[in-house]
Amino acid sequence: MITPDNFNIFVIPFTLGMTFVIIWLLATIVRLWRHMPQADRRRVRHSILTVSTLRAAGEIVAEVLIHRRIWKRNKFLGYMHMSFAFGWFMLIVVGKFESLTYTGNHFNPIWYPLFFKFFVPGEHEFFLSAFFTQAMDLWLALILSGQILAFVKRRMPGRTIGIRPRHTAVNRAALTALWFIFPLRLAAESVTAGIHGGGGFLTGTIGQAIAGAPVLDSLFMPLWWAYSISLGVFFVLIPFSRYFHIPVEGFLILARHWGVSDEATIRTLETLACSACGMCLRVCPRAQGDAPRMQPVYFIERLRAGRDNDNDVWGCLGCLRCEEVCPVVVHSTQIRMARKMQAVPQRRPQPAPAPVPQARQGVDVALFAGCMGKLTPGTKAAMNRILQAAGLAYAWVDEDEDLCCGRPLRLSGRTGEAQARMDRLKTALLALNPRVIVSTCPICYNMIRAAISARPVLHHTDFVAQLIDEGRIAVGRSAQTLTYHDPCELSRMADISSRPVSTLAKVGTLKQPDECGRESHCCGGALGGLAVAGHERTRLMTATADYLQRPGAQTIVTACPLCKKSIAQHAATPVVDFAEAIAKSLKTSSINQ
Ligand code: SF4
Ligand code: SF4
Repeated sequence: MITPDNFNIFVIPFTLGMTFVIIWLLATIVRLWRHMPQADRRRVRHSILTVSTLRAAGEIVAEVLIHRRIWKRNKFLGYMHMSFAFGWFMLIVVGKFESLTYTGNHFNPIWYPLFFKFFVPGEHEFFLSAFFTQAMDLWLALILSGQILAFVKRRMPGRTIGIRPRHTAVNRAALTALWFIFPLRLAAESVTAGIHGGGGFLTGTIGQAIAGAPVLDSLFMPLWWAYSISLGVFFVLIPFSRYFHIPVEGFLILARHWGVSDEATIRTLETLACSACGMCLRVCPRAQGDAPRMQPVYFIERLRAGRDNDNDVWGCLGCLRCEEVCPVVVHSTQIRMARKMQAVPQRRPQPAPAPVPQARQGVDVALFAGCMGKLTPGTKAAMNRILQAAGLAYAWVDEDEDLCCGRPLRLSGRTGEAQARMDRLKTALLALNPRVIVSTCPICYNMIRAAISARPVLHHTDFVAQLIDEGRIAVGRSAQTLTYHDPCELSRMADISSRPVSTLAKVGTLKQPDECGRESHCCGGALGGLAVAGHERTRLMTATADYLQRPGAQTIVTACPLCKKSIAQHAATPVVDFAEAIAKSLKTSSINQ
């Protein structure tokens, strides 16, 4: 029941704001639920009372409150995010218990725990009262320490604390309201302690220091009003700002654990769950130049406001470096892909071609070089030597025919035509009836493995490593030094990075750059980014070529025809494909047919 003991008119701004954000969140969830396919709704209903919900709860604590992924990348940033999220969560939870314990009720008005010190000023003896008083000050101190760090980040952005993105007006307004909340709470509770006594190690100490000051009485109500207004303004702005991620990220984690597969639902949740932390900014190769900003932090901000532009959709290389560091695991390239498909009229797929002649059927290995592979004939020649040394029957499916995996068309949004190309390629590959399908291009490899499940599909780095491990070919180690460049499509997209390195270590000494494996730099030649200007491509390629030459190896090795071409154009150091490095070191063949 509402009485003068638990209500004062100043609580209204907070209560209105809180009610508004709860209604908005519920409306968003209902809208998503209604658009979700039946199969996913069934999956959710069947998953709620299962262990997957417990796992999701664990991840919500680890990622939404503690921000584990951010901690791993940047301790300062991790502490800053954790202090706000965990500190505020504990203020709410412990405050709720404090107020319920004091009143002995099962329920209290929504505003009561937040303004407890206003309604119950001074010292009071009730169960665990001393603990509650000190704990509440502790959470407030934790948040304020994070706020100091956030202030330093704004003043001194950089590698240590993180790059500060340039936010939109509504985000800046929400941030300003947020920054007022906790200092105002500190001030309101300290002044209350100064007048009535009580308070913990923080508010009580300040209260004692200012007790007796003549202005305290005149500050008392304005400070509680200001605290309530800042809360109300922040909550009203939440749905229109990046802070909507606070309630949405938990739903995204639940949806993933419950196995929701509908692309549109997951991408919408990801869009809303982006916290605009800006971690994607530092790693994006396109963030270094003077080109218009299109990194996920900006793209998603504009997308949510319905203002994304051509550069947002077509200016991204699709190198996935941003997704590798994203603490929310936002698949921004997929979100861009959906926008591309909306922007480009979809055509009907063409019919599949006649299969490859019967005479070439029944090979051990069907190989696919791909369009770019034709521009790097050295790779094909090296694979021929390796396969002959291994004594395997093989055929290049695109030896005489122009076949394509469809990726360039897909990246330009023409998914229907891309599918038709893949259908053609699939028919041709399976017509060879191979034991294994091998692609020397990681882009094609990713497309083929997604389309063909009837045969093992390998990238040539894995296939060659397997031949060595099985003793079908033997390689000799020389004094040569090598730097291996991980192609984006192989390391980040296919999670193949350690095996090529350990294989190359059998033929020479590796000198790797600091950022390699899943952290490797983009060569600049990535097929995405149709809007990336020529001079920008040159800048990207030169930067990566320079970076790879820093360790000072004699040869740069890569495993993608596109990377090879891009780096070779701008590096003084020779650049070879993985197959060429292995073929050069072939000792003898040990044929086990
Ligand atoms: S996309 Fe990920 S890394 Fe980038 S701002 Fe959003 S949450 Fe942060
Ligand atoms: S995919 Fe690469 S180019 Fe595109 S935004 Fe991410 S890091 Fe930048």
